[in-house]
Amino acid sequence: MAKDYYHILGVGQNASKDEIKKAFRRLAHEYHPDRGGNAERFKEINAAYQVLSDDLKRSQYDRFGTTFEGSAGSQAGAGTGFGFDSTPGFDFEGLDLGDIFGEFFGARPRQTRARPRRGHDLTVELTIDFEEAFFGTDKEVALRKHAVCSRCEGTGREPGTGETTCTTCRGEGEVRQTSRSFFGTFTQVAMCSICHGRGKVAETPCRQCRGAGRELASKRLRVHIPAGIDDGGTIKLAHEGEAGEYGQPSGDLYVAVHVRSSPLFRRDGNDLHTTTAVSLTQAALGASMPVLLPDGTIRLDVPAGVQSGAVIRIRAKGMPQIGGRGRGDLYVHIEVKTPERLSRKAKKLLEELREEGV
Ligand SMILES: [Zn+2]
Ligand SMILES: [Zn+2]
Repeated sequence: MAKDYYHILGVGQNASKDEIKKAFRRLAHEYHPDRGGNAERFKEINAAYQVLSDDLKRSQYDRFGTTFEGSAGSQAGAGTGFGFDSTPGFDFEGLDLGDIFGEFFGARPRQTRARPRRGHDLTVELTIDFEEAFFGTDKEVALRKHAVCSRCEGTGREPGTGETTCTTCRGEGEVRQTSRSFFGTFTQVAMCSICHGRGKVAETPCRQCRGAGRELASKRLRVHIPAGIDDGGTIKLAHEGEAGEYGQPSGDLYVAVHVRSSPLFRRDGNDLHTTTAVSLTQAALGASMPVLLPDGTIRLDVPAGVQSGAVIRIRAKGMPQIGGRGRGDLYVHIEVKTPERLSRKAKKLLEELREEGV
């Protein structure tokens, strides 16, 4: 007769899967041999969990007091375990492998297949004037980065020399490491640290980069800033980031653009706002007056009787859209200036206007 799995896990017969999992995790922590726990007890706990966490096995166990799938399952309850020491690739059945590995071994199995990574992405900041954002411009940025080695051009080999098959991994780029643990025998596939996954090694490593294929260097790059770029805009230069090690691809370079504010224009999306002062008489009688644009001037017809604070929209005179499709609009805010000093004549005329009730 098998042991009482419910009792081992300390849960009731109606325990939910979640309760069973929680109980297992708690007990596994408590009895894990690596933490000084009782190994036999831990095996029992694990065996109980293998059955109760599986719907089919659990229902078999509930009905018959045992499970019917081979020696592993039926003997588990007797405390002999699941063949921990002989079964490579032991199946944890529904258990969250990542959790268990993370907790017990401090590593996730996924990471064992890591490859040399591509070079890092880089970001440089660039500040330009409002007018440069309006017209677009070319700028030079300077950066210090891992660049492709100038001597071997990234191959990691001395120029004129070849490469041979890596003897450590026999050209496979991977090495298998078999380790035994309490859970069983694990085969981990890891990147070969001699050839860095390439399967080949340089006959003679490059003298300049010692085979890494890259070196620290100061670089200057021309960056085209498109017309219409906004403050906070980013330009991506593919493959201009850091060179990858051992022939891996380069990362990208991001240019983060800051645009200095303009004393004349305030930007809102692709629209621009500007303010124009009109005199008392221009406001009252209407006027045609020049308004400054980033790229010239335009004549604005101010209607008679315009109020201070009025806004006149001029279509398609705002910022260019990035990519060259049209422009935003220009909003001209009217500010009526009350005269501060009056000539004797002007004062007399205004007094006459007052008589008129203006
Ligand atoms: Zn080199
Ligand atoms: Zn190798």
